[in-house]
Amino acid sequence: MNPSPSQGATAAVIGSGFGGLALAMRLQAAGVRTTVFESRDKPGGRAYVYHDQGFTFDAGPTVITDPSALEELFALSGRKLSDYVELLPVAPFYRLCWEDGTRLDYANDQEALDAQLRALSPRDVEGYQRFLAYSRAVFEEGYRKLGTVPFLNFRDMVAAGPALVQLQAWRSVYAKVASFIEDEKLRQVFSFHSLLVGGNPFETSSIYALIHALEREWGVWFPRGGTGALVQGMLRCFEDMGGTLRLSTPVERIEVQGGRITGLMAGGEHHAFDQVASNADVVHTYERLLGHTPRGQAEARRLKGKRFSMSLFVVHFGLSKPQPQLQHHTVCFGNRYRELIHEIFHGSEIPEDFSLYLHAPCATDPSLAPPGCSSHYVLAPVPHLGNAPVDWSVEGPRLRDRIFDYLEQHYMPGLRESLVTSRMFTPEDFQTELNAHHGSAFSLEPVLTQSAWFRPHNRDAEIPNMYIVGAGTHPGAGVPGVVGSAKATAGLMLDGALQ
Ligand SMILES: Cc1cc2nc3c(=O)[nH]c(=O)nc-3n(C[C@H](O)[C@H](O)[C@H](O)COP(=O)(O)OP(=O)(O)OC[C@H]3O[C@@H](n4cnc5c(N)ncnc54)[C@H](O)[C@@H]3O)c2cc1C
Repeated sequence: MNPSPSQGATAAVIGSGFGGLALAMRLQAAGVRTTVFESRDKPGGRAYVYHDQGFTFDAGPTVITDPSALEELFALSGRKLSDYVELLPVAPFYRLCWEDGTRLDYANDQEALDAQLRALSPRDVEGYQRFLAYSRAVFEEGYRKLGTVPFLNFRDMVAAGPALVQLQAWRSVYAKVASFIEDEKLRQVFSFHSLLVGGNPFETSSIYALIHALEREWGVWFPRGGTGALVQGMLRCFEDMGGTLRLSTPVERIEVQGGRITGLMAGGEHHAFDQVASNADVVHTYERLLGHTPRGQAEARRLKGKRFSMSLFVVHFGLSKPQPQLQHHTVCFGNRYRELIHEIFHGSEIPEDFSLYLHAPCATDPSLAPPGCSSHYVLAPVPHLGNAPVDWSVEGPRLRDRIFDYLEQHYMPGLRESLVTSRMFTPEDFQTELNAHHGSAFSLEPVLTQSAWFRPHNRDAEIPNMYIVGAGTHPGAGVPGVVGSAKATAGLMLDGALQ
């Protein structure tokens, strides 16, 4: 391979989440000598992995979409994703269930889907087609065209304006879905997706309706061995290219001299770099890592005034029995939707009831549990600590018990009798383990006034060799989002490396 023009330049990436790893792969593939600093003992960030008594528990993302964006990362260095990790198709994409026993298996098979829609609400079969056409239009505009464009200038935003107006981006996901679909359950089916990226379906821009088309376009996948196997595959590819990962090495401070980054302090040592990108939480980055500079203080103050996504309460658990009645992904809707979501985003305490996401990965890959056993996680969206500063060391076990009762009653009879191991991850853990502001699970809330140009930029506005990647910058949270942010940020960094 010919040496690229960026050969010899050095870069640090702070954090090894999907966004950090994707950026590191792009930089290293372009010849920039890249070091990733990760404070925890394993890579992956929100995609951390726990191993416990033979069970493998993915901590975070499990719905892997847009494999083409992942394949692109490996292809940059002439490699193939399939040489590092095998992606298994998940079918159905999800099972959606309600307490009255209604259920819908949402799959990419139009006939099967239509039959289920017809059974639930015949008049919505045609409305769904119109919703799908809308979702595809937003997907073209919001994902394919703008998903990897760094919105550094307001004129980029103005240029995107006409399309956003035409797509009625000021309306909420739910309002837009409701304009096509009448049945309340189906409105939930086609609007809940924005929660996967931290958005309230009643307040988030209808642009996020694109997630439906994205799933229909490329399917839903699961890496053999779990999402952690994808993290390991990306890391191995990065290291095969000569990149370096330093685990258990928290960055303490980013060094700035004469308005430019000169390097960083990590593990008590100074490391010089030409460029630094932070994949860590944006408030943590500005308040802690750049808090010794006027720029860091001002930006942290500004960001703390923004709205942050909800948090999550997650329970990982291993059972001594298989659960053949479960599909890989189940969304368990509670009796309240709008009111519950309002309490999750705006309430000051843990709601009385919940809607859950239940993960049963052994349905796709039995190797994640010992033979004859099953590994799971269940999560409930909950308010972040800024809204509900509850003591999770007390409330966590209570909520876990309520959720186990509910699962035993509706989905997993006898759960506790076959319980081998369980662990919790609370909003306090998001705050302490991941440095997440307010313990938010998805960083800044993706409302229109905090999206694109209005989101923290992929390059800092004042420090020219300081960059941001991951959920806190454009386009936002979710694996496709942060992998897209890495493309936008890498483009800027590689331009910067040539200057
Ligand atoms: C429970 C859960 C389920 C989810 N499910 C899905 C899903 O199914 N599909 C999907 O697409 N998305 C899902 N998401 C969202 C998705 O996981 C995230 O948006 C995405 O992984 C965030 O990636 P990131 O690049 O922003 O980095 P993060 O994962 O946030 O990683 C940031 C890293 O920075 C490190 N760090 C912080 N401070 C420092 C420091 N000072 N020094 C060094 N390192 C530091 C942290 O330890 C961490 O490893 C889920 C999220 C959660 C929490």
